[in-house]
Amino acid sequence: MYDLSHQNSLKLQSTAETYLEFSNTDELVEISKNYGLEQGNFCVIGEGTNSIFPISFKNIVLKAMGKDIKIINSHENILIEVSAGLEWDDLIDFCCEKNFYGLENLAGIPGTVGAAPVQNIGAYGKEVSENISKIEVFDIKQKAIKYIDNEECKFSYRDSFFKKNKHLIITSVFFSLSSIFNANLSYRDLQNKSFSSAQALINYIRKIRLKKIPDRISYPNLGSFFKNPIIGKKSFNKNPKLSKLTSLSASPDKVKLSAGEIIESLGLKGMRINGCGMSAQHALVLVCTGFCNANDIRRVEKTVKEIVFNEYQINLETEPFYL
Ligand SMILES: Cc1cc2nc3c(=O)[nH]c(=O)nc-3n(C[C@H](O)[C@H](O)[C@H](O)COP(=O)(O)OP(=O)(O)OC[C@H]3O[C@@H](n4cnc5c(N)ncnc54)[C@H](O)[C@@H]3O)c2cc1C
Repeated sequence: MYDLSHQNSLKLQSTAETYLEFSNTDELVEISKNYGLEQGNFCVIGEGTNSIFPISFKNIVLKAMGKDIKIINSHENILIEVSAGLEWDDLIDFCCEKNFYGLENLAGIPGTVGAAPVQNIGAYGKEVSENISKIEVFDIKQKAIKYIDNEECKFSYRDSFFKKNKHLIITSVFFSLSSIFNANLSYRDLQNKSFSSAQALINYIRKIRLKKIPDRISYPNLGSFFKNPIIGKKSFNKNPKLSKLTSLSASPDKVKLSAGEIIESLGLKGMRINGCGMSAQHALVLVCTGFCNANDIRRVEKTVKEIVFNEYQINLETEPFYL
């Protein structure tokens, strides 16, 4: 039995009968042959910062460990290939050191490079899909290495086609970056600020993230637990209760609401059921403060969703994955 309790950000007690690490596609091909992965009897983990682990995994657990960064083109249109197992924030530091620009606003997000495209990580006015040119995967069904280009990934807000295509294991990600630093100040916390360097912007973002998000040691968490709801302008205008909430235009006929504000408006900030609940510091963050498991988390999730729906007729969507 492999203990995976320290490999997930909620610190849930979890074990796997079979746990295997791979660093490259050759090792993955070998594992696939030896363990018959084409039957779908596996699940892939990164750092477990967006996943809810079961008490015991029924499937084989695979973890990407490769940490290589290959510079394919270092002039003007920079292109790099990064192995799936590298820590996302180490990539931010690498790019800053090399003067490769574009990812600064995503500084401080935990997890691995391989998981970043799965939910199209985003923060501070930026989504990772804007800099992904293609992705190398091992297709377990066809037993073949493939390259999926940006369009095929069907990226959208915290979504991609990898969520529905679990037979594709991401082995590396190709990023196209710029040689010119152009600070993205579109997000409200950054407007009217100026940054003389990418490092200054990265430092600022890491600092505000630390202030906003509960400390993961004392309050194990997965960052935002629900997506910000995007609803049609017609439904928004028809529902007078929503007019009290902050809304942003998401497209000509859609508005985006703040899930955190919705939860807070219903007095659910700081609520607890058994050992988990919504953070008293940030209403959108589910925290585990006592002994709990995936069922306790489902209970909190269901309660919050029901209360929100009853008041606002909005279906909140969960961001992390139950594995
Ligand atoms: C404190 C905190 C703050 C956060 N802030 C943000 C934020 O600002 N923005 C944001 O978008 N997210 C945020 N997150 C969520 C999380 O950091 C990201 O989703 C991250 O990309 C998850 O990486 P991971 O390696 O931990 O993935 P895991 O949780 O291990 O896996 C996530 C999913 O990806 C799949 N997966 C993992 N690796 C692979 C692979 N190689 N091939 C195929 N599938 C794979 C898993 O099966 C699972 O379905 C935050 C989380 C925490 C704890």
